[in-house]
Amino acid sequence: MKVRVRLAPSPTGTLHLGTARTALFNWLFAKKEGGSFLLRIEDTDFERSKEEYIKNIYDGLQWLGIDWNESPVIQSKRVNEHKAIIKTLIDKGFAYRCYASESELEEMRETQKENGLAPRYDNRHRFLTPEQESNFINEGRNPVIRFKINDQKLISWNDLIRGEMTWSGKDLGGDMVIARRAPADSIGDPLYNLVVVADDSAMKISHVIRGEDHIANTAKQILLYEALDLNIPTFAHTPLILNSEGKKLSKRDGVTSISEFKEMGYTSEAMANYMTLLGWAVPEGTNERFKISEISSVFSFEKVNKASAKFDWDKLNWLNSQVIHEMSPKKLLNYLDPLFKKNEWNIPSQEWGENLLDLIAPSMILINDGVDQAKPFFEEPTLNPDGKKQLELKETKVILKFILENLKKSDSPIINEEKAHDLLNQATKICEVKKGLVMKSLRAALFGTLNGPDLIKSWVLLSRLSKDRPRISRFI
Ligand code: GLU
Repeated sequence: MKVRVRLAPSPTGTLHLGTARTALFNWLFAKKEGGSFLLRIEDTDFERSKEEYIKNIYDGLQWLGIDWNESPVIQSKRVNEHKAIIKTLIDKGFAYRCYASESELEEMRETQKENGLAPRYDNRHRFLTPEQESNFINEGRNPVIRFKINDQKLISWNDLIRGEMTWSGKDLGGDMVIARRAPADSIGDPLYNLVVVADDSAMKISHVIRGEDHIANTAKQILLYEALDLNIPTFAHTPLILNSEGKKLSKRDGVTSISEFKEMGYTSEAMANYMTLLGWAVPEGTNERFKISEISSVFSFEKVNKASAKFDWDKLNWLNSQVIHEMSPKKLLNYLDPLFKKNEWNIPSQEWGENLLDLIAPSMILINDGVDQAKPFFEEPTLNPDGKKQLELKETKVILKFILENLKKSDSPIINEEKAHDLLNQATKICEVKKGLVMKSLRAALFGTLNGPDLIKSWVLLSRLSKDRPRISRFI
């Protein structure tokens, strides 16, 4: 059997971390099995579905390195097929029209609650006589269409992640609505469980891999597959992603969509790497740092946890910093130069930009950290308390004066590393102070702080922007 899997996102929001992780597991499995990974846009919620979200989903997947086979299936375009299937179900006696009004259903649920029962549809219109039906129609009622669910039935499947699963028909809430209200001589908008079965079958999906929040739907869908005499796919339900408090990751946790992670400065490589580890344990002997293109051969559902996965910012940050530290300064500059330009910071040359990144990359965790780290090169730095204290020392002034006077002796504003070293050594000797004091004084004058990357290299870069002399002269 050819493996065909799919991601079926609803374009009612941006690409969510959980959906992207589901996409990854599908993609890895397809790659491992030499199968196909397909996309289906479930856009039947017309009010909430938006074109911009479809674009966000495509962009997010591409950014993560998840490609797909065939053109995406657009669910709303298949509505006639969905309705034809509903008609078949009615004709074969598997589905029927239910005329119960919203207020009657509400009353039914209230009574159930009062009697300590779980609310469910009580199948009251399953056996209407033709007279009863025509009376309801004459009253002007629009029915929904319901699929019959046998309360006595046990529904089982062998889940690739959870093993043997059994669900009882009586826990599925009574006969299920498969089409919205519409006049009795028509078929209303088809609903989720029905369309998923219709589409997965039409797309010849062999394995349905999706979040565990769909487990109850799977039981319902299996009943539909059976009624329609269709092949039932294999199912795998992936664990939820929880926040650090053990609650389902939601908007309240700040960032949840892939585009937001990208904006914050996470790299696609670290994101894809981290998401694969959310619920999947690497086999022994495999490094946790990997590119997804390299890992598919060892991916398997046996190593996917049943338990929910906790989102761990520290681990994601660690992976991201690893990716950044392994990146060439040239590649890093490709990311950062557009961000520099946004601040109207212009690098004097490609080489200067790469040297800057060489200098600051080791302390970067996010791509965007590069902006903060580069800022004191382009903009007047603010004085922090340590820097201020240093600059108030009597010796500091003497040192800075010496350095500035010597700098002025040179025609070129640009200093090189050798000259910089020389000058610091001379200052140490002539001013009769410790070298540490010279270094601290210069750093405080140039950058307003006592900490930072290699001072000599930073100074050389700053001199190319002609910013070292004016900064030193402020404190003399
Ligand atoms: N559109 C559904 C969702 O976004 C997908 C359901 C499925 O994978 O079957 O959750």
